[in-house]
Amino acid sequence: MFFDLINILFPRVCAACGEVLLKLEQEICLACTVQLPKTDFHKIQGNPVAKIFWGRIEIENAFAYYHFHKGNKVQHMLHQLKYKGAQKLGEKIGQLYGQELINSVFCKEIDFIVPVPLHPKKLKKRGYNQSESFAIGLSQTLNIPFNTKLLTRAVNSETQTKKNRFNRWENVSEIFCADENNIQFNHRHILLVDDVITTGATIEACARVLKAKQIRVSVAAIASTQ
Ligand SMILES: [Zn+2]
Repeated sequence: MFFDLINILFPRVCAACGEVLLKLEQEICLACTVQLPKTDFHKIQGNPVAKIFWGRIEIENAFAYYHFHKGNKVQHMLHQLKYKGAQKLGEKIGQLYGQELINSVFCKEIDFIVPVPLHPKKLKKRGYNQSESFAIGLSQTLNIPFNTKLLTRAVNSETQTKKNRFNRWENVSEIFCADENNIQFNHRHILLVDDVITTGATIEACARVLKAKQIRVSVAAIASTQ
């Protein structure tokens, strides 16, 4: 009864379509769970996300859960995740994606899940790292540990959005650091996770730092513009 009253006063709504959620639905309604545009890239060798990195850096596997288009429900959902405090939404998406990935051979090879870190200032402002929420959900479903200590961020890259890819790369290349003392990761296979992949510059910068430690890198994102 308490739940019903709270839900009447403050209805929980679907992060993708905005409709009121039913009692058993969490974060995303059942209709959106089924209808959101999935890429199925994890079933395709040489998929469009993997191709982003060809000729740039060696990535073992790369894929994204949803197609991101301007104005689509996926964009709306990511907006809730990044700017509206919907921390649990990241976990929910991670759990859903985990259910799709769990039987793939590729998952058996992953030792750790590592989210792309946020700059500490941004983390303080937002209160959480949206990529970490996604990593937690994936970790729970795939039963693979996640780690937020290995990869850290040094400089705020907020000014990078107006620059082209070449300049962005220069800007982004200095900002990630891998924990030199943490040898447990050497020669391991890490699943690096982010919210959206566009140019791949951020992932490339992180992967370079990890590969310098002889770490194998695969990539999973919530969404891709490809
Ligand atoms: Zn919905």
